[in-house]
Amino acid sequence: MIEVMQLPCLSDNYGFLVHDPETKTTISIDSPDVAVINKALEDRNWSLSAIWNTHHHFDHAGGNAALVERWNCKIIAPKGDAKFIPNADQLVSDGDEVYLGGIMAKVLHTPGHTMGHIIYVFENENIAFVGDTLFALGCGRLFEGGPKEMWPSLQKVMALAPQTMIYCAHEYTADNLRFAITIDPDNPRLIARGREIKTKRENDQWTIPFTLAEDLATNPFLRAADPAIRENLQMQEASDQEVFAEIRQRKDNF
Ligand code: ZN
Ligand code: FE
Repeated sequence: MIEVMQLPCLSDNYGFLVHDPETKTTISIDSPDVAVINKALEDRNWSLSAIWNTHHHFDHAGGNAALVERWNCKIIAPKGDAKFIPNADQLVSDGDEVYLGGIMAKVLHTPGHTMGHIIYVFENENIAFVGDTLFALGCGRLFEGGPKEMWPSLQKVMALAPQTMIYCAHEYTADNLRFAITIDPDNPRLIARGREIKTKRENDQWTIPFTLAEDLATNPFLRAADPAIRENLQMQEASDQEVFAEIRQRKDNF
């Protein structure tokens, strides 16, 4: 069984070390904060074999060079963001397989936040590292792509096993909750999850990871097909992608 060590980094990022005790292999999902990552590795007596980047933004790949310097680790990076991530040892794209020791993770291309964005799915372990594609009750901003790219990307995530534990890269949940309630005010599961989130944040607890099933029931960005949301937005005749686009736009202006 793999071990995930979750590391608060910068103002609201999470870094993740993923460790296979069998082969004593450790990888870092992205490189948000070198000092935090180095200390965590030293505390556990782990050495870093690779960085697996989700996308090129500074809070995800900014620590690559310093980690390579310290650990002589490899960089696995998304092909579509390659021109912004120097010195990658392996460029990966949709459907590729990468390995933590002997444990396979599937790469899925999820363009939208950036055009090259990828996620890493440990299918047998039901664990997914989704970077800035999906957040608890939210999704990444459309910096490089539009709804036409992001909606199919989110559908790929929605198609994973519902029990998948989703590790996203930011603690944005409380803000996302305030917005989600405006789109789906009568959803009892959202209201109940909202109470849990408030309690957790008041006690300085993380809301990440979460299960895909929870988010499918409560995240308005994944619920473009829901009749109550469509009625609330007066979009009964629109396509799911159009409903998603409207929700994304409202969030940008929230
Ligand atoms: Zn980003
Ligand atoms: Fe980010």
